[in-house]
Amino acid sequence: MAYEDELIAGIAAVRAASRVCRSVQQRLATAEALEKKDKSPVTVADFASQAIVCEQLMRALPGDAVVGEEGSEELREGAQSNLLEAVVREVTSEVAGDADQVLAWIDRGGADASGDRYWTLDPIDGTKGFLRGEQYAVALGLLEKGEVVVGILGCPNLDDGQGGQGALFAAVRGGGSRLLPLWEQGDEGAAVQVSQVGSTAEARFCESVESGHSNQDQSARIAAGLGITQEPFRIDSQCKYAAIARGDASIYLRMPTRADYREKIWDHAAGKLVVEEAGGRVTDVEGNDLDFTHGRTLDANRGVVATCGPIHDEVIAVVKRVRAEG
Ligand code: AMP
Ligand code: MG
Repeated sequence: MAYEDELIAGIAAVRAASRVCRSVQQRLATAEALEKKDKSPVTVADFASQAIVCEQLMRALPGDAVVGEEGSEELREGAQSNLLEAVVREVTSEVAGDADQVLAWIDRGGADASGDRYWTLDPIDGTKGFLRGEQYAVALGLLEKGEVVVGILGCPNLDDGQGGQGALFAAVRGGGSRLLPLWEQGDEGAAVQVSQVGSTAEARFCESVESGHSNQDQSARIAAGLGITQEPFRIDSQCKYAAIARGDASIYLRMPTRADYREKIWDHAAGKLVVEEAGGRVTDVEGNDLDFTHGRTLDANRGVVATCGPIHDEVIAVVKRVRAEG
């Protein structure tokens, strides 16, 4: 199969990072920590996740560049030695190394999104969900000449469809999307397929929990325009793409909240391929393809709409109408 080495390395990296994120989240989830709005645990897990993924990719595919969300600058400041120590402790639960190596691994994720081939990584997508003890994802995509060719989502709190918790979604361009175990080895997985709805009125739609990330007033009006009566399925992170890919929902609406916000490539690359390879469609709110040729952001796009496919054009028409109304 095409991209077999990349898939094996990417899946192993996402599994290792997911284990560390799960362990940090389990230790953090006290009401007290949340009330204090203590962001440091998520910061530790963010850096550790990026270090682990970069180290594993570097070892398996030494020539590959990685465009990650995090940089090591903050960690290198003298005042942050406790933070760095905590990050090193987390990373070394998965791979042996010292502080300098950990910083270097994080910096391996500092490529500039301009080459013909690079990985893009969100070490913890959905940090707000992570802090609430809810959903988040480790999201890793491989881009070649602006095409997403491999997409991997580690979703530690998502049900695995068999009564367990933790799911991994992996897609290769032209090779379908699969659901694999997150906490076990092995690359056997079950194919996932979007679910079809007879009409948009039967659809369930998903969106961000955070109203600052997606205009929920607009999505409510779009849903009404489509005849949808079911309540929205609100879930953090690229777990929304996973939900579309396996048919838990049929429409994902990400409506811009500000005219100047540009979506980040690591927030969408992996999820987009997972949905498309499961039979769905992904565009921006105008119906344009997501354009990954503008560096770290989707500069030419606004918002995102993902669907199970056949209803896509109808959804976009209503999205456009509602946006025109303001
Ligand atoms: P979600 O969990 O779907 O709400 O998305 C989380 C992601 O939203 C984060 O990774 C951020 O990169 C991204 N984000 C931050 N601010 C905005 C915004 N104003 N509009 C859209 N996405 C945003
Ligand atoms: Mg993110």
